[in-house]
Amino acid sequence: MIVGAGQAGGRTALALRRTGYQGDIELIGEECALPYERPPLSKDFLLGRATQESLRLASQPGWSEQGIELHLGLRVESIDRGSRCVQLRSGGVVTYDVLVLATGVRPRLFPGTVAADAPVCYLRTLTDVQALRALLGPGRRLAIIGAGFIGLEVAAAARELETEVTLVESAARPLMRMLPAAVASWLCRVHAGRGVVMTFGAQVQALDGHGVLLQDGSRIPADGLLVGIGSVPNDDLARTSGLEVSDGIVVDVQGRTSDEAVFAVGDVARHVDPAAGRNERLESWRNAEDDAAAVARAICGLEPAARPVPWFWTDQFGFNIQLAGRPADGMQVVERGRLGDGPYLAHYLDTGVPRGVIGIDCGREVRMAMALIGRGQPVEQQDLPSPRIRRASAATA
Ligand code: FAD
Repeated sequence: MIVGAGQAGGRTALALRRTGYQGDIELIGEECALPYERPPLSKDFLLGRATQESLRLASQPGWSEQGIELHLGLRVESIDRGSRCVQLRSGGVVTYDVLVLATGVRPRLFPGTVAADAPVCYLRTLTDVQALRALLGPGRRLAIIGAGFIGLEVAAAARELETEVTLVESAARPLMRMLPAAVASWLCRVHAGRGVVMTFGAQVQALDGHGVLLQDGSRIPADGLLVGIGSVPNDDLARTSGLEVSDGIVVDVQGRTSDEAVFAVGDVARHVDPAAGRNERLESWRNAEDDAAAVARAICGLEPAARPVPWFWTDQFGFNIQLAGRPADGMQVVERGRLGDGPYLAHYLDTGVPRGVIGIDCGREVRMAMALIGRGQPVEQQDLPSPRIRRASAATA
Protein backbone atom coordinates (compact mmCIF):
# COMPACT_ATOMS: atom_id res chain seq x y z
CA MET A 1 0.00 0.00 0.00
CA ILE A 2 1.18 3.50 -0.81
CA VAL A 3 -0.07 6.52 1.15
CA GLY A 4 0.14 9.79 -0.78
CA ALA A 5 -0.84 9.79 -4.46
CA GLY A 6 1.48 12.56 -5.64
CA GLN A 7 4.57 12.24 -7.82
CA ALA A 8 6.67 9.97 -5.58
CA GLY A 9 3.72 7.77 -4.57
CA GLY A 10 2.47 7.42 -8.14
CA ARG A 11 5.94 6.76 -9.50
CA THR A 12 6.59 4.13 -6.82
CA ALA A 13 3.46 2.26 -7.91
CA LEU A 14 4.51 2.39 -11.57
CA ALA A 15 8.14 1.47 -10.76
CA LEU A 16 6.96 -1.54 -8.73
CA ARG A 17 5.15 -2.91 -11.77
CA ARG A 18 8.13 -2.16 -14.02
CA THR A 19 10.41 -3.98 -11.58
CA GLY A 20 8.19 -7.05 -11.68
CA TYR A 21 6.10 -6.70 -8.52
CA GLN A 22 3.12 -9.05 -8.84
CA GLY A 23 1.17 -8.26 -5.66
CA ASP A 24 -1.77 -5.89 -5.22
CA ILE A 25 -0.92 -2.18 -5.23
CA GLU A 26 -3.24 0.30 -3.54
CA LEU A 27 -2.50 4.01 -3.87
CA ILE A 28 -4.38 6.15 -1.36
CA GLY A 29 -4.34 9.95 -1.73
CA GLU A 30 -6.06 12.88 -0.14
CA GLU A 31 -6.31 14.95 -3.31
CA CYS A 32 -9.11 14.11 -5.74
CA ALA A 33 -7.05 14.66 -8.92
CA LEU A 34 -5.21 11.77 -10.61
CA PRO A 35 -1.53 11.75 -9.51
CA TYR A 36 0.26 14.68 -11.16
CA GLU A 37 3.60 16.52 -11.35
CA ARG A 38 3.79 19.88 -9.61
CA PRO A 39 6.60 21.83 -11.35
CA PRO A 40 4.29 23.32 -14.03
CA LEU A 41 1.99 24.72 -11.31
CA SER A 42 4.26 27.74 -10.93
CA LYS A 43 5.23 27.88 -14.62
CA ASP A 44 3.32 26.86 -17.77
CA PHE A 45 0.17 25.67 -16.00
CA LEU A 46 -0.12 28.92 -14.05
CA LEU A 47 0.27 30.77 -17.35
CA GLY A 48 -2.47 28.67 -18.96
CA ARG A 49 0.01 27.06 -21.40
CA ALA A 50 -0.31 23.50 -20.08
CA THR A 51 -3.41 21.42 -19.49
CA GLN A 52 -4.24 19.42 -16.38
CA GLU A 53 -4.03 16.22 -18.47
CA SER A 54 -0.42 17.01 -19.42
CA LEU A 55 0.55 17.04 -15.71
CA ARG A 56 -0.73 13.53 -15.02
CA LEU A 57 1.64 10.62 -14.38
CA ALA A 58 -0.85 8.31 -16.16
CA SER A 59 -4.44 8.40 -17.38
CA GLN A 60 -7.26 6.66 -15.49
CA PRO A 61 -7.18 3.65 -17.88
CA GLY A 62 -3.37 3.66 -17.59
CA TRP A 63 -3.55 3.01 -13.82
CA SER A 64 -6.10 0.23 -14.31
CA GLU A 65 -4.01 -1.40 -17.05
CA GLN A 66 -1.09 -1.54 -14.60
CA GLY A 67 -3.30 -3.17 -11.99
CA ILE A 68 -2.92 -0.21 -9.61
CA GLU A 69 -5.97 0.55 -7.49
CA LEU A 70 -6.43 4.28 -6.90
CA HIS A 71 -8.31 5.50 -3.84
CA LEU A 72 -8.48 9.27 -4.22
CA GLY A 73 -10.04 11.87 -1.94
CA LEU A 74 -9.17 9.74 1.11
CA ARG A 75 -6.97 10.84 3.99
CA VAL A 76 -5.07 8.32 6.07
CA GLU A 77 -5.46 9.32 9.69
CA SER A 78 -3.14 6.88 11.48
CA ILE A 79 -1.03 3.75 11.13
CA ASP A 80 -1.19 0.70 13.36
CA ARG A 81 2.13 -0.99 12.65
CA GLY A 82 1.41 -3.87 15.03
CA SER A 83 -1.65 -4.94 13.02
CA ARG A 84 -0.20 -3.65 9.72
CA CYS A 85 -3.16 -1.49 8.85
CA VAL A 86 -4.03 2.17 8.30
CA GLN A 87 -7.14 4.01 9.48
CA LEU A 88 -8.87 6.34 7.06
CA ARG A 89 -10.44 9.62 8.15
CA SER A 90 -13.66 8.36 6.56
CA GLY A 91 -13.66 5.50 9.04
CA GLY A 92 -12.38 2.49 7.08
CA VAL A 93 -9.36 0.35 7.87
CA VAL A 94 -7.03 -1.01 5.16
CA THR A 95 -4.39 -3.66 5.78
CA TYR A 96 -0.94 -3.85 4.19
CA ASP A 97 2.04 -6.19 3.86
CA VAL A 98 4.40 -3.38 2.87
CA LEU A 99 3.65 0.32 3.39
CA VAL A 100 5.20 3.22 1.44
CA LEU A 101 4.73 6.71 2.88
CA ALA A 102 4.73 9.34 0.12
CA THR A 103 2.95 12.16 1.91
CA GLY A 104 5.13 15.04 0.64
CA VAL A 105 5.24 18.44 2.30
CA ARG A 106 2.81 21.30 2.95
CA PRO A 107 3.52 25.02 2.66
CA ARG A 108 4.87 26.67 5.81
CA LEU A 109 2.17 29.00 7.08
CA PHE A 110 2.87 32.71 7.56
CA PRO A 111 3.76 33.01 11.27
CA GLY A 112 2.60 36.62 11.80
CA THR A 113 -0.85 38.16 11.99
CA VAL A 114 -3.23 37.41 9.13
CA ALA A 115 -6.46 39.43 9.02
CA ALA A 116 -9.64 37.62 8.03
CA ASP A 117 -9.95 39.73 4.86
CA ALA A 118 -6.33 39.19 3.70
CA PRO A 119 -6.34 37.75 0.15
CA VAL A 120 -3.66 35.17 1.01
CA CYS A 121 -2.77 32.08 -0.95
CA TYR A 122 -0.12 29.37 -0.96
CA LEU A 123 1.00 27.18 -3.86
CA ARG A 124 1.20 23.41 -3.64
CA THR A 125 -1.82 21.90 -5.37
CA LEU A 126 -3.98 22.28 -8.47
CA THR A 127 -6.65 23.85 -6.26
CA ASP A 128 -4.13 26.44 -5.03
CA VAL A 129 -3.46 27.46 -8.65
CA GLN A 130 -7.10 28.36 -9.17
CA ALA A 131 -6.99 30.71 -6.17
CA LEU A 132 -3.68 32.24 -7.27
CA ARG A 133 -4.77 32.77 -10.87
CA ALA A 134 -7.71 34.84 -9.67
CA LEU A 135 -5.19 37.29 -8.17
CA LEU A 136 -3.23 37.84 -11.39
CA GLY A 137 -3.79 40.04 -14.40
CA PRO A 138 -3.28 43.55 -15.80
CA GLY A 139 -3.57 46.25 -13.16
CA ARG A 140 -3.64 43.81 -10.25
CA ARG A 141 -1.02 44.08 -7.51
CA LEU A 142 0.53 40.92 -6.08
CA ALA A 143 2.84 40.91 -3.07
CA ILE A 144 4.92 37.77 -2.66
CA ILE A 145 6.37 36.89 0.73
CA GLY A 146 9.55 34.85 0.23
CA ALA A 147 12.09 34.87 -2.60
CA GLY A 148 12.56 31.11 -2.86
CA PHE A 149 11.96 29.15 -6.06
CA ILE A 150 8.19 29.30 -5.80
CA GLY A 151 8.13 33.03 -5.04
CA LEU A 152 10.51 33.80 -7.90
CA GLU A 153 8.74 31.58 -10.43
CA VAL A 154 5.35 33.03 -9.54
CA ALA A 155 6.82 36.55 -9.77
CA ALA A 156 7.99 35.77 -13.31
CA ALA A 157 4.66 34.24 -14.36
CA ALA A 158 2.70 37.07 -12.77
CA ARG A 159 4.74 39.69 -14.65
CA GLU A 160 4.06 37.81 -17.90
CA LEU A 161 0.39 38.22 -17.04
CA GLU A 162 1.02 41.96 -16.56
CA THR A 163 0.51 41.86 -12.80
CA GLU A 164 2.36 44.43 -10.66
CA VAL A 165 4.65 42.35 -8.43
CA THR A 166 6.48 43.17 -5.21
CA LEU A 167 8.67 40.48 -3.65
CA VAL A 168 9.48 40.76 0.05
CA GLU A 169 12.28 38.66 1.52
CA SER A 170 13.78 38.69 5.02
CA ALA A 171 17.22 37.48 3.87
CA ALA A 172 19.74 39.67 2.07
CA ARG A 173 19.24 37.99 -1.31
CA PRO A 174 17.04 35.42 -3.05
CA LEU A 175 17.66 31.70 -2.60
CA MET A 176 20.19 32.46 0.10
CA ARG A 177 21.00 28.81 0.87
CA MET A 178 21.09 27.56 -2.73
CA LEU A 179 22.65 30.17 -4.97
CA PRO A 180 26.02 31.90 -4.60
CA ALA A 181 25.90 35.70 -4.25
CA ALA A 182 26.97 36.37 -7.87
CA VAL A 183 24.24 34.19 -9.41
CA ALA A 184 21.65 35.56 -6.96
CA SER A 185 22.50 39.13 -7.87
CA TRP A 186 22.24 38.29 -11.59
CA LEU A 187 18.81 36.81 -10.88
CA CYS A 188 17.81 40.01 -9.07
CA ARG A 189 18.82 42.01 -12.14
CA VAL A 190 16.71 39.72 -14.34
CA HIS A 191 13.65 40.25 -12.15
CA ALA A 192 14.19 43.97 -11.66
CA GLY A 193 14.71 44.42 -15.40
CA ARG A 194 11.27 42.92 -15.99
CA GLY A 195 9.50 45.06 -13.46
CA VAL A 196 9.54 43.00 -10.25
CA VAL A 197 10.06 45.27 -7.24
CA MET A 198 12.26 43.44 -4.72
CA THR A 199 12.71 44.26 -1.04
CA PHE A 200 15.36 42.36 0.91
CA GLY A 201 16.09 42.29 4.64
CA ALA A 202 12.43 43.11 5.30
CA GLN A 203 10.45 41.59 8.18
CA VAL A 204 6.76 41.11 7.47
CA GLN A 205 4.58 41.71 10.51
CA ALA A 206 1.06 41.28 9.21
CA LEU A 207 -1.05 40.56 6.15
CA ASP A 208 -4.43 42.20 5.74
CA GLY A 209 -7.00 43.31 3.21
CA HIS A 210 -4.78 46.24 2.13
CA GLY A 211 -1.58 44.25 1.62
CA VAL A 212 1.58 43.77 3.66
CA LEU A 213 2.59 45.55 6.86
CA LEU A 214 6.33 45.52 7.52
CA GLN A 215 7.87 45.64 10.99
CA ASP A 216 9.31 49.10 10.32
CA GLY A 217 5.72 50.35 9.92
CA SER A 218 5.80 50.72 6.15
CA ARG A 219 3.14 49.14 3.92
CA ILE A 220 3.12 47.39 0.57
CA PRO A 221 -0.34 47.80 -0.94
CA ALA A 222 -1.58 44.68 -2.72
CA ASP A 223 -4.77 43.06 -4.04
CA GLY A 224 -3.31 39.59 -3.67
CA LEU A 225 -0.75 37.93 -1.40
CA LEU A 226 1.28 34.79 -2.06
CA VAL A 227 3.20 33.27 0.83
CA GLY A 228 6.17 31.15 -0.29
CA ILE A 229 8.33 30.74 2.81
CA GLY A 230 9.22 27.07 2.52
CA SER A 231 7.50 23.90 3.51
CA VAL A 232 6.97 21.44 6.32
CA PRO A 233 7.19 17.65 5.83
CA ASN A 234 3.97 15.66 6.30
CA ASP A 235 5.66 13.24 8.71
CA ASP A 236 2.96 13.23 11.41
CA LEU A 237 1.63 9.79 10.44
CA ALA A 238 5.11 8.36 10.84
CA ARG A 239 5.77 10.19 14.11
CA THR A 240 2.53 9.13 15.78
CA SER A 241 3.12 5.52 14.78
CA GLY A 242 6.54 5.55 16.45
CA LEU A 243 8.77 5.63 13.36
CA GLU A 244 12.02 7.61 13.52
CA VAL A 245 11.39 11.17 12.36
CA SER A 246 13.71 14.17 12.19
CA ASP A 247 12.33 16.95 9.96
CA GLY A 248 11.12 14.18 7.65
CA ILE A 249 10.88 10.41 7.91
CA VAL A 250 14.33 8.92 8.44
CA VAL A 251 15.20 6.28 5.81
CA ASP A 252 18.29 4.28 4.82
CA VAL A 253 19.86 3.98 1.35
CA GLN A 254 17.00 1.74 0.24
CA GLY A 255 14.31 4.10 1.52
CA ARG A 256 13.47 1.82 4.46
CA THR A 257 12.31 3.40 7.72
CA SER A 258 13.04 2.15 11.23
CA ASP A 259 10.32 -0.50 10.52
CA GLU A 260 11.35 -3.17 7.94
CA ALA A 261 7.85 -3.16 6.41
CA VAL A 262 7.59 0.61 5.98
CA PHE A 263 9.34 2.79 3.39
CA ALA A 264 9.23 6.53 2.67
CA VAL A 265 9.82 8.36 -0.61
CA GLY A 266 9.94 11.88 -2.05
CA ASP A 267 9.86 15.22 -0.25
CA VAL A 268 8.94 13.66 3.12
CA ALA A 269 11.91 11.26 3.26
CA ARG A 270 15.14 12.16 5.06
CA HIS A 271 18.01 10.05 3.75
CA VAL A 272 20.51 9.18 6.43
CA ASP A 273 23.56 7.22 5.34
CA PRO A 274 26.41 7.73 7.84
CA ALA A 275 28.88 5.74 5.66
CA ALA A 276 28.39 8.20 2.79
CA GLY A 277 28.11 11.21 5.15
CA ARG A 278 24.59 11.78 3.86
CA ASN A 279 21.79 13.30 5.94
CA GLU A 280 19.42 15.27 3.76
CA ARG A 281 15.83 15.75 2.74
CA LEU A 282 15.49 16.88 -0.86
CA GLU A 283 12.41 18.52 -2.33
CA SER A 284 12.78 18.01 -6.06
CA TRP A 285 11.22 16.28 -9.04
CA ARG A 286 14.38 14.21 -9.66
CA ASN A 287 14.54 13.05 -6.06
CA ALA A 288 10.91 11.86 -6.19
CA GLU A 289 11.72 9.82 -9.32
CA ASP A 290 14.93 8.37 -7.84
CA ASP A 291 13.32 7.46 -4.51
CA ALA A 292 10.46 5.69 -6.28
CA ALA A 293 12.89 3.56 -8.32
CA ALA A 294 15.06 2.77 -5.28
CA VAL A 295 12.14 1.70 -3.09
CA ALA A 296 10.63 -0.42 -5.87
CA ARG A 297 13.96 -2.28 -6.11
CA ALA A 298 14.13 -2.77 -2.36
CA ILE A 299 10.55 -4.11 -2.18
CA CYS A 300 11.31 -6.49 -5.06
CA GLY A 301 14.38 -7.76 -3.18
CA LEU A 302 16.98 -6.29 -5.58
CA GLU A 303 20.31 -4.80 -4.55
CA PRO A 304 20.34 -0.98 -4.36
CA ALA A 305 21.44 0.74 -7.59
CA ALA A 306 23.94 3.63 -7.48
CA ARG A 307 22.16 6.79 -6.40
CA PRO A 308 22.05 9.41 -9.21
CA VAL A 309 23.49 12.88 -8.59
CA PRO A 310 20.78 15.22 -7.15
CA TRP A 311 19.38 17.60 -9.73
CA PHE A 312 16.98 20.55 -9.62
CA TRP A 313 15.84 23.11 -12.14
CA THR A 314 13.82 26.31 -12.24
CA ASP A 315 12.48 28.39 -15.14
CA GLN A 316 12.14 32.14 -14.78
CA PHE A 317 11.59 34.74 -17.53
CA GLY A 318 12.78 32.33 -20.22
CA PHE A 319 15.96 31.38 -18.35
CA ASN A 320 16.51 27.76 -17.39
CA ILE A 321 18.63 27.42 -14.24
CA GLN A 322 19.85 23.98 -13.17
CA LEU A 323 21.64 22.91 -9.99
CA ALA A 324 23.21 19.50 -9.57
CA GLY A 325 25.31 17.75 -6.97
CA ARG A 326 26.01 19.51 -3.72
CA PRO A 327 27.67 22.89 -4.37
CA ALA A 328 28.80 24.38 -1.05
CA ASP A 329 30.41 27.51 0.33
CA GLY A 330 34.16 27.27 0.54
CA MET A 331 34.57 25.08 -2.56
CA GLN A 332 36.67 26.21 -5.51
CA VAL A 333 34.40 27.73 -8.18
CA VAL A 334 35.42 27.44 -11.84
CA GLU A 335 33.26 29.57 -14.13
CA ARG A 336 32.58 28.97 -17.79
CA GLY A 337 30.90 31.72 -19.82
CA ARG A 338 29.92 35.16 -18.46
CA LEU A 339 27.00 35.68 -16.10
CA GLY A 340 24.31 37.71 -17.82
CA ASP A 341 25.79 37.16 -21.26
CA GLY A 342 24.42 33.88 -22.58
CA PRO A 343 24.90 30.34 -21.30
CA TYR A 344 26.90 30.10 -18.07
CA LEU A 345 28.30 27.35 -15.84
CA ALA A 346 29.81 27.43 -12.36
CA HIS A 347 31.61 24.20 -11.40
CA TYR A 348 32.19 23.53 -7.69
CA LEU A 349 35.31 21.53 -6.84
CA ASP A 350 36.59 20.13 -3.60
CA THR A 351 40.35 19.45 -3.83
CA GLY A 352 39.99 18.99 -7.58
CA VAL A 353 36.92 16.71 -7.40
CA PRO A 354 33.73 18.11 -9.02
CA ARG A 355 30.99 18.18 -6.37
CA GLY A 356 28.38 20.48 -7.83
CA VAL A 357 27.38 22.61 -10.79
CA ILE A 358 25.05 25.51 -11.51
CA GLY A 359 24.12 26.11 -15.13
CA ILE A 360 22.12 28.79 -16.88
CA ASP A 361 20.67 27.78 -20.25
CA CYS A 362 23.05 24.86 -20.73
CA GLY A 363 21.26 21.67 -19.76
CA ARG A 364 23.49 19.51 -21.95
CA GLU A 365 26.68 20.70 -20.22
CA VAL A 366 25.07 20.29 -16.78
CA ARG A 367 24.38 16.63 -17.68
CA MET A 368 28.06 16.22 -18.68
CA ALA A 369 29.14 17.85 -15.42
CA MET A 370 26.83 15.49 -13.50
CA ALA A 371 28.64 12.52 -15.01
CA LEU A 372 31.93 13.90 -13.65
CA ILE A 373 30.35 14.56 -10.23
CA GLY A 374 29.02 11.00 -10.20
CA ARG A 375 32.51 9.60 -10.82
CA GLY A 376 33.91 11.40 -7.78
CA GLN A 377 37.44 11.61 -9.24
CA PRO A 378 39.71 14.67 -9.55
CA VAL A 379 39.58 16.30 -13.00
CA GLU A 380 41.76 18.76 -14.88
CA GLN A 381 40.08 22.15 -15.19
CA GLN A 382 40.31 22.00 -18.99
CA ASP A 383 38.10 18.87 -18.88
CA LEU A 384 35.23 20.69 -17.20
CA PRO A 385 32.36 21.24 -19.68
CA SER A 386 31.98 24.72 -21.18
CA PRO A 387 28.84 26.16 -22.77
CA ARG A 388 28.70 25.74 -26.52
CA ILE A 389 28.96 28.98 -28.47
CA ARG A 390 25.45 29.67 -29.67
CA ARG A 391 24.48 32.05 -32.39
CA ALA A 392 22.13 34.03 -30.16
CA SER A 393 21.31 33.55 -26.53
CA ALA A 394 17.60 33.16 -25.73
CA ALA A 395 17.72 36.12 -23.43
CA THR A 396 20.22 38.40 -21.75
CA ALA A 397 19.96 40.07 -18.41
P1 FAD B 1 3.67 15.50 -3.44
O1 FAD B 1 3.72 15.56 -4.92
O2 FAD B 1 3.34 16.73 -2.68
O3 FAD B 1 2.61 14.36 -3.05
C1 FAD B 1 2.23 14.08 -1.72
C2 FAD B 1 0.77 13.67 -1.74
O4 FAD B 1 0.44 13.03 -0.50
C3 FAD B 1 -0.19 14.86 -1.86
O5 FAD B 1 -1.09 14.63 -2.91
C4 FAD B 1 -0.90 14.88 -0.51
O6 FAD B 1 -2.23 15.34 -0.59
C5 FAD B 1 -0.86 13.42 -0.12
N1 FAD B 1 -1.02 13.18 1.33
C6 FAD B 1 -0.37 13.80 2.35
N2 FAD B 1 -0.78 13.30 3.54
C7 FAD B 1 -1.70 12.36 3.27
C8 FAD B 1 -2.49 11.48 4.09
N3 FAD B 1 -2.40 11.49 5.41
N4 FAD B 1 -3.37 10.64 3.47
C9 FAD B 1 -3.47 10.61 2.12
N5 FAD B 1 -2.75 11.41 1.30
C10 FAD B 1 -1.87 12.27 1.86
N6 FAD B 1 11.00 20.40 -8.34
C11 FAD B 1 11.97 20.54 -9.26
O7 FAD B 1 12.92 19.75 -9.27
N7 FAD B 1 11.93 21.56 -10.18
C12 FAD B 1 10.92 22.46 -10.22
O8 FAD B 1 10.91 23.35 -11.06
C13 FAD B 1 9.88 22.34 -9.25
N8 FAD B 1 8.85 23.20 -9.25
C14 FAD B 1 7.86 23.08 -8.32
C15 FAD B 1 6.82 23.99 -8.33
C16 FAD B 1 5.81 23.90 -7.38
C17 FAD B 1 4.68 24.90 -7.40
C18 FAD B 1 5.83 22.88 -6.41
C19 FAD B 1 4.74 22.79 -5.35
C20 FAD B 1 6.87 21.96 -6.38
C21 FAD B 1 7.89 22.05 -7.35
N9 FAD B 1 8.96 21.14 -7.37
C22 FAD B 1 9.96 21.28 -8.30
C23 FAD B 1 9.07 20.08 -6.36
C24 FAD B 1 8.40 18.77 -6.79
O9 FAD B 1 7.15 19.02 -7.35
C25 FAD B 1 8.27 17.90 -5.56
O10 FAD B 1 9.58 17.59 -5.12
C26 FAD B 1 7.48 16.62 -5.79
O11 FAD B 1 6.14 16.92 -6.06
C27 FAD B 1 7.55 15.71 -4.59
O12 FAD B 1 6.67 14.63 -4.75
P2 FAD B 1 6.03 13.92 -3.48
O13 FAD B 1 5.21 12.80 -4.03
O14 FAD B 1 7.04 13.66 -2.46
O15 FAD B 1 5.04 15.00 -2.86
